[in-house]
Amino acid sequence: MAGPPETARRSPIDMTPFEAVSLFFDRAADHIGLADEMREVLRGSYRELRVQVPVRMDDGRLEVFTGYRVQHNAARGPYKGGIRYHPDADLDEVRALAALMTWKTAVVDIPFGGAKGGVQCDARSMSDAEKQRLTRRFTQMIAYLLGTNRDIPAPDVNTDARTMAWMMDAYSTRYGYTPAIVTGKPVELGGSYGREAATGRGVVLCLAEAGRSLDIDLQGATVAVQGFGNVGSWFARLVGELGCRVVAVSDVAGGIYAESGLDVDAVVSHVAESGSVVGAAGSESITNEELLELDVDVLVPAALDRVITDANADRIRARVVAEAANHPVSPAGDEILEGNGKTVIPDILANAGGVTVSYFEWAQNIQQFRWEEERVNAELSKTMSRAWQQVYARATGDGIPLRLAAFALAVEKVDQADRLRGYV
Ligand code: NAD
Repeated sequence: MAGPPETARRSPIDMTPFEAVSLFFDRAADHIGLADEMREVLRGSYRELRVQVPVRMDDGRLEVFTGYRVQHNAARGPYKGGIRYHPDADLDEVRALAALMTWKTAVVDIPFGGAKGGVQCDARSMSDAEKQRLTRRFTQMIAYLLGTNRDIPAPDVNTDARTMAWMMDAYSTRYGYTPAIVTGKPVELGGSYGREAATGRGVVLCLAEAGRSLDIDLQGATVAVQGFGNVGSWFARLVGELGCRVVAVSDVAGGIYAESGLDVDAVVSHVAESGSVVGAAGSESITNEELLELDVDVLVPAALDRVITDANADRIRARVVAEAANHPVSPAGDEILEGNGKTVIPDILANAGGVTVSYFEWAQNIQQFRWEEERVNAELSKTMSRAWQQVYARATGDGIPLRLAAFALAVEKVDQADRLRGYV
């Protein structure tokens, strides 16, 4: 469904996404005393591919899009990371997101490296047929980098299970039936039970662990969620299990608020009918900016990057910020939140549930054996709890914020793997 453009969302920005992720990396490298030679290896990407993606549009015009696949590091396993369709998905952003995937897979200790892909397009103004042609052509262009033991894409912003089905089909047409080439597929094509909800569920699991470790009572806690796509909507549906009350949600068209709590299932139905959360029964309208600054206990940015910066971080009132989106807080915004005593659960931990169940999906495809949903969710819970415990222990042990602790653990693991393999 077409709607307002997705680009004009940001407050003034202190640095580019890749500069910001590099800064988080450098701080971790300083903290663990990483050798200079390894800094050079681990800061940059292993491989960056830029491709031309010509697509015949429905009105007969030929439009030429630009796509990227960036492979950051594969010391711990095949490259792994989503494909984003967005006007802002340029090389700098994709490069930053690829590096984050390396650190994320290391934090949750699954045997993958990090990669990301993107096509610069306004997917929301394209028809399904145009998106299918774009996906097939993009897959063809990057196919020689992919492989079940080389590089395995997944969904991200504006891509979903159907996009993955098209990618799998485009790849399989050339190389033979290969379900393990992508994750996040429809269950009917070898997708895993529980994958669709996994990122949102992982954020809920992390929040529960944070509540226990930090002695935060989540029973009756109020929650605001920015973004109501795959991650935000599943998080909002599941967080009630902790006794929390979702009082505000938003999407690109705007936000809604209800002091007594939103009926999240009713909002999901409203989105299915109207295409947006705006106008859901029993809610009042708010802006995305207002949502971020609400007086709630937990704030969950689950849309795009850098929505909390030095321009608004001082006005964030939530005690806990759980980064469901990738890189939603800029470095300058992060420092302000920390100075104000906020707990920030970093993206590479908070939203790692998605790639964790992607790993389970890949393993199921390779074994040609399907797990029940209960098993998927139980294994996800174990993985997220273990990762939280390790990051929290490192943060308290070293007296450092959770983000630095997560990056430090991740960089140590990747450094060790690269050395053991004799890469350096
Ligand atoms: P999605 O496309 O399903 O949903 C994105 C949501 O954000 C939509 O509701 C959209 O309307 C909203 N949005 C877009 N622009 C906005 C704006 N300017 N203001 C407010 N809302 C806006 O995407 P998703 O898969 O849910 O991904 C969301 C975030 O989570 C991204 O940062 C993504 O990288 C990250 N993430 C996704 C996964 C996954 O498994 N899908 C895993 C880890 C991290």
